[in-house]
Amino acid sequence: MVPRVALLSKDQIDKLPRRAREVVEYRKSGLSLNHIQGCPLDCAYCIRHTYGLWDQRVPRALMSDAQAVEELVAHQYFQPHVTPVQVFNRATDPFLPAVRPHTLAVLEDLDERELTNHVLVITRHQMKPGDFERLNRLRHIKLTLLFTYSGIDNKDIEPYPSSVAAESLKLMSRPTRRRYRTVLYWRPLVPGLNDSPEHLDAAYQLAQHADATVFTGLFYRDEIAGYYKANGLPEPYEDTARRKIVPETLEQRVLATFDATTPLFRKTSCAVAYAHGLPDYNGHIGIPGLCDICPLSQLELCRTAHKVPTPDRFREVAAHLPEARGLVVVDITERAAVVSGLETEQPRYHLQHALGFQVHDVRHPHRERWHGRADIGWEGENEDD
Ligand code: SF4
Repeated sequence: MVPRVALLSKDQIDKLPRRAREVVEYRKSGLSLNHIQGCPLDCAYCIRHTYGLWDQRVPRALMSDAQAVEELVAHQYFQPHVTPVQVFNRATDPFLPAVRPHTLAVLEDLDERELTNHVLVITRHQMKPGDFERLNRLRHIKLTLLFTYSGIDNKDIEPYPSSVAAESLKLMSRPTRRRYRTVLYWRPLVPGLNDSPEHLDAAYQLAQHADATVFTGLFYRDEIAGYYKANGLPEPYEDTARRKIVPETLEQRVLATFDATTPLFRKTSCAVAYAHGLPDYNGHIGIPGLCDICPLSQLELCRTAHKVPTPDRFREVAAHLPEARGLVVVDITERAAVVSGLETEQPRYHLQHALGFQVHDVRHPHRERWHGRADIGWEGENEDD
């Protein structure tokens, strides 16, 4: 019998931390569906630390798959054919044996609705030969499988070996004619841990199998730093930061390892969009410093699609959002719109994806050359999202 995860009772759900109860949440790469939570893979840097879910090692469901998809498509931020969607990227791995039937059910449900949205599925788990047929049957959604690979061999930090993700990427990339796309999600890159020339070369070799590669650093929030300290793990940085961290010298070495025929990106949405032959849905083209490593044909695609929204268009998109009532458009340039009056980041992501244009919060200034990285290890200015 195919294993499935247990459904929590209402009482059990009520006891979960507040953010864990939010089954649909806007994150930077898309509207994220997380009705299954819990993971036994124990990556020390897991984002579950920040949701009060670290101790939840057994996946459990907060509702049925059908209910969850209903909640997603009825969500105020969801726009059919526009909003990028992510499935199970916050609190579990979508291809854990017990979770995979739910992942496939969600993807098939979205596809049966003939939605053409981007759908991102991030995994480090083992894919099976039969997965190709099942996933290749999806005709409408733009599915991207992102394989998390770090090459970290310290078992205290990453007990589940990166070699599994590497094999899954190869397996799922092998068929030449397929509808879904594959991305090598090379992360987290941590100085001293997985940045030796051998590590970089292994990632480059693996990138030859993928439709695109994206590299990012470590999301080193306070809760994750606390876990490192409490467990005596070697701390990669002295400070914690809102954004992911890739020091400048490491980035230069990464770029030097790759060649012009191996598509490499700094931003997840850029890699996903490129793999589908589409312009970036986050409008990163407004920040030219991000695009200097992008294939020329893709650059052209993004440039052609780049439209600076008018203030009226902005207000139109924001009009139906109660939490955007206080929205003030401080400035709109070729690069980005700067806004204030939004309490959380979620409506900002909604605006950004609906407009395909960078929307920055005035409280988090974006400066050149940092590419949305935290300011640890960088001497330039900062840009984001
Ligand atoms: S041109 Fe720039 S925005 Fe477009 S995919 Fe490339 S890096 Fe991203």
